[in-house]
Amino acid sequence: MLEQLINELTPQNVELVAVSKTKPNEAILECYEKGQRIFGENYIQELATKYESLPKDIIWYFIGHLQSNKVKVIAPFVHLIQSVDSFKLLGEINKRAKQNDRTINCLLQFHIATEASKFGLDLETARAFLESEAFKNLENVNLCGVMGMATFTSDKAQVRTEFKALKNIFDTLKSEFFADKADFKDISMGMSGDYKMAVEEGSTMVRVGSLIFGKRAYK
Ligand SMILES: *Cc1c(COP(=O)(O)O)cnc(C)c1O
Repeated sequence: MLEQLINELTPQNVELVAVSKTKPNEAILECYEKGQRIFGENYIQELATKYESLPKDIIWYFIGHLQSNKVKVIAPFVHLIQSVDSFKLLGEINKRAKQNDRTINCLLQFHIATEASKFGLDLETARAFLESEAFKNLENVNLCGVMGMATFTSDKAQVRTEFKALKNIFDTLKSEFFADKADFKDISMGMSGDYKMAVEEGSTMVRVGSLIFGKRAYK
């Protein structure tokens, strides 16, 4: 399945993030040997352990909900944090990036689903912050775009509407704040069940787990 996904997404310039949460190193190495380098993880300790034990040219993305007090664990090596859902968190990422003499790439996570349980910003909050002086002082974070998770539903029309909403948010922020910034280019949306639709709606980065690794067993 990995090869199929790569063959399908590469010509469309869509980046494939292999979501390896709960999966063992052997499963990751199997993908690695087929050329996959970008992996997404949701849990801090799991990511830190995998980082220590797996090849150092793996590009790790953090995609789960991130608590400020955990940022320091991944700040030395994480390549992209997709799940920035508060500006307090962005400030903490900046601080830890600076301590490590790095710049950390980030996506702003927006709340596009109907489920209250899902995390994410709304456009007005993001706007207010991006206009602020506080934002201009963050020199060690690099905002690269937006991320969102659609509602968990079989209603395809609803999912499509939510993807369109995220694309709209991206376009709005791009034109209002990042028109001159080439790095602000990514729309991370789409998972195993809906990545094709996400690509149709403008996704530049899909996060695929179970389709590559099989179903996850949760405790
Ligand atoms: C687990 C997870 C995925 C992958 O989900 P699948 O349905 O297994 O492809 C993608 N994005 C986030 C944020 C996740 O937590």
